[in-house]
Amino acid sequence: MKVFGIGRNYAAHIEELNNERPGQPVVFLKPDTAIIKNAEPFYFPKFTNNIHHEVEVVLKISKMGKHIEEKFAHKYYNEIALGIDFTARDLQQTAKEKRLPWTIAKGFDGSAPISKFVPKNDFDLNNLNFELKINNESRQIGNTSMMLFSFDYIISYLSQFFTLKVGDIIFTGTPKGVGPIKVGDQIAGYLEHEQLLSVEVK
Ligand code: MG
Repeated sequence: MKVFGIGRNYAAHIEELNNERPGQPVVFLKPDTAIIKNAEPFYFPKFTNNIHHEVEVVLKISKMGKHIEEKFAHKYYNEIALGIDFTARDLQQTAKEKRLPWTIAKGFDGSAPISKFVPKNDFDLNNLNFELKINNESRQIGNTSMMLFSFDYIISYLSQFFTLKVGDIIFTGTPKGVGPIKVGDQIAGYLEHEQLLSVEVK
């Protein structure tokens, strides 16, 4: 099972990290050992001092496909969830400066908490509100209408390079407001005001 991450998909987040707006989706991968399921704690690792939260809408592939046309991409996923793309920002910054891969900064154990999945047909996917709170204080508010690349475009794009298989997961990018987490934080993720995700940092 593959876990894809899409970077730089919300303009305001690109600006807050002084990144360039991409011409195509920025793609990275996390291993399956990055996933933690809802309500399991996240253990802050020793190799970093600066982990950022990035709340994202997550898609789950429901049908195998390759070279999927954008107009058919909606047939390849039925369910969505909320996830957090935990990022070791210090390690990522070093990697960026040295033009090295982000694999460790993005793919370490526990770096991908994911909520339960819910049927996509219950939502307007082009106008989907989501939010991240820490210790009951709002930190990130997003709406999928602000994405540079739509879910369907992302699926079509990825499938040009990677065969998508049932159960593969796609993190679709984070809105502005990313910031550090610390031990003791209670992190909560909301999709249209329903709390789907909860993670305690230990
Ligand atoms: Mg991200």
